[in-house]
This record gives sequence, structure tokens and C-alpha cells, in this order.
Amino acid sequence: MSHPSRAHLDAIGIPVWVRRRAARAPSRAGIPHEAAATGAPPPPAPQPADASHRATGSDIPRAPAAAVVGAIDAPAPATAVVGAIDARAPAAAVVGVIDAPAPATAVVGAIDALAPAAAVLEAIDAQVRACRKCELHRTRTNTVFGVGPPGAGCMFIGEAPGAEEDARGEPFVGRAGRLLDAMLAAIGLRRGDVYIANIVKCRPPRNRDPQAGEIEACSGYLRRQIEAVSPRLLVAAGRVAAQSLLSTTQSIGRLRGRTFRYGEDRLPVVVMYHPAYFLRSPLEKRKAWDDLVRLRSMLSEEAESVQ
Ligand code: URA
Ligand code: SF4
Repeated sequence: MSHPSRAHLDAIGIPVWVRRRAARAPSRAGIPHEAAATGAPPPPAPQPADASHRATGSDIPRAPAAAVVGAIDAPAPATAVVGAIDARAPAAAVVGVIDAPAPATAVVGAIDALAPAAAVLEAIDAQVRACRKCELHRTRTNTVFGVGPPGAGCMFIGEAPGAEEDARGEPFVGRAGRLLDAMLAAIGLRRGDVYIANIVKCRPPRNRDPQAGEIEACSGYLRRQIEAVSPRLLVAAGRVAAQSLLSTTQSIGRLRGRTFRYGEDRLPVVVMYHPAYFLRSPLEKRKAWDDLVRLRSMLSEEAESVQ
């Protein structure tokens, strides 16, 4: 396998300094196990034909993490993946990966640890597109992963794609999505300012609620998506999103208007009604406004606290 092409690097946004560094790397060098392993010795694996061309000298980059070793030692990644690892891994590790292709799972682990958020999100999205972990894969037209800038301050999480989302592969593009856009605009945010995703990535038939097993099957994608986007604040829109994110069975009426915490980083979670609720009950829109005002003040508080 050859180095990723320039067009490929452009496509996944690899910074120029990394390209220069990769260009300076020896063209085919294996990565020594002992330089890379941080814990248990890596499993025996096929070596590139010229793995004996070991890097020597103090200026030779070392493999950064055991995850990368998994990718290097095992057989065969997609070119996209190689490019993604390229972004942060030291050059010798990258060359090792290129030389000795690895299984997708090992490589994705390596990417999660090392690559820029956009490449991580692309890799998770690729897994979602191929996913058949629950029955929803049978009836979907498209998977609906998420949209928005990695690093967005606010990540908005809905329930599941509807018909229009399933047809277009993008979340919140139907009626509820248009209302969401208007709600965001009301507090001075554009759709492109926030990251938007759903609890499950495939449309449930006839828009039924996703089942517990489907939510569970899909939860790892969302968890890693949140880690990659790394927002300052999560917004859980509606009962299903709130209950799943917070692992609770409390009603939306009790959860809404309060702030919870998510994950090890104790990310604040604001619980709001789902925009579709206001389509069904327009007289309740006052509550939407209350929720939005709260969201806006939390976003500015969070912005101040990170400065
Ligand atoms: N409702 C949701 O929860 N998500 C969508 O993407 C669209 C409608
Ligand atoms: Fe996979 Fe999630 Fe789609 Fe189920 S809903 S098939 S777990 S991507």
C-alpha cells in the first residue's frame, strides 16, 4: 500500500505540518515492538516484507500508543484510516501502518486515540454506515450519523431519524428540523453552529419509538461521537434522548428545565422538549422559549468558564 495521496490528505483535512513530517519519514520502516508497546506485548502478527529496516537513532519517532501498535501489527486498513492516523502519529508509526494493513476495529481504536476530531467522526460514520447491530438496519434507506462542526460548543441530541432524515441521511431536516432551526435562531445560533445527532442512527419503522435493545446497540457510536465532538454542553431533546443519555425512566416533564451531567467529564446536559412536541402542541411553545433562554445562559456561562 502506498502513502495517502495529497488529494486524500486534503479530503480529510490533514494539516500541512503533518504532511511535511510524513514526507520526511523513511519510506518503508517497520516499527519496533519494544519501542511501541506500553503494556502487554502485542500479538504476533504478519510483518511487512522489509520489517527488518528498523529505525535507529534518537530522532526516530516512537509509536505513541498501544492502540497504534494494534493497527501496525495486524493486517489491513482503508486508505482513509491511514490518512487519519497520519495526522497525529509519529512518522514511523504511520509508515508501519501503511506497510502492514490492520483490521478496521484496531485501526479505529488507534484513530480515536490520535486523530483530529473530523477524522474520528468520519471513521465512526463509516462504521455506522456498515452497521447491522440491530434490526433497524433492515428498513433504513440511509444511516443518519450527525452534522455540524467538530468542536461545536453545543451538541443537540434527538431521538431517531424520521422519513425525511432517512431519505437524506441528515438529522433534523424535516418539519421538526425546521422548527429546531427557528428555535436556534431565536437565541442567535445558526444550525451550522451546533452539532446535531440522534440517539439511534437508523429510522424506526413508521417512526415508532426506538426500543431499548436498539438504543443499547447504537449507544457506543453516540458515546464516541460525543467524545470526538467534545462539546461544552449537551442538549437532550425529548424524552427518549433524555432518558437514554441519563439512564433514567423519569418523565420528560420532571427532567426538563434541569441540568444533569454526562460521562466521566461530567458534561452538562440540558433537557428540553423535542421540537416535534411543539408541532403537536403549539400552545406549549412558551416552554420552548423558557428552555432556550436557559440554554443560552448556560452556553454563555460555560464560555466564560473556559476562558
Ligand atoms: N426527530 C428526531 O429526533 N431526530 C431527527 O433527526 C428528526 C426528527
Ligand atoms: Fe446499527 Fe444503530 Fe443502525 Fe441499529 S440503529 S443498525 S445499532 S447504526
